[in-house]
Amino acid sequence: MSYQHKYVDGTNIHFPVGKVVCIGRNYAEHAKELDNPVPTEPLLFIKPGSCVVSLEGGFNIPTERGSVHYEAEIAVLIGKPLSTKPSREEVLDAISGFAPALDLTLRDKQAELKAKGLPWEIAKSFDGAAVLAPFVVSSTFEDLTDIGIRLSINGEVRQDGNSAQMLNPIVPMIQYMAGCFSLQAGDVILTGTPAGVGPLNVGDEVVLELAGVNRFESVVR
Ligand code: ZN
Repeated sequence: MSYQHKYVDGTNIHFPVGKVVCIGRNYAEHAKELDNPVPTEPLLFIKPGSCVVSLEGGFNIPTERGSVHYEAEIAVLIGKPLSTKPSREEVLDAISGFAPALDLTLRDKQAELKAKGLPWEIAKSFDGAAVLAPFVVSSTFEDLTDIGIRLSINGEVRQDGNSAQMLNPIVPMIQYMAGCFSLQAGDVILTGTPAGVGPLNVGDEVVLELAGVNRFESVVR
């Protein structure tokens, strides 16, 4: 089933599915829980568009590649090109929507790669490694430093964060990213995960929310 960006009302968003630009350790409490130092400059990595799947109707995880961790994150959909030092206004104008998302990670594999100082792609870029809910339009939020993200699994809240806790807030983060590589319409930003990450298992019932805005139920297959 091919993925297409869409809004919560079901309308398709006619951008190609681009790359997914991610930031690691953007919440201090999460860096701590994995015994990672808090970075002095943003730690970026990219998942290719081939990772992206929809949250709706259930999603698959790899079953024979060690522990698969969930990371609930606020996803930002880019709707206009951005490169080299965009202004705050240009960034705000380029944002097309927000959604709750899961950055899935092969945690055992990542630990092995990290220990060797190697890149993380094998742990972060498998098919299905970026699970996106439908987007709400950008005007939903007046204050981008107050967006709540919450994940419950089998009825228990596991992650409950807010963009207020980000070490790199959304707009400066995107300015920094656009200075590293051009962003294009259809690219998605994953803005880091709050504390509470853990393993995901086949059969888990997942509720992913932009707190107070929307709520999506799904199941791990
Ligand atoms: Zn992440």
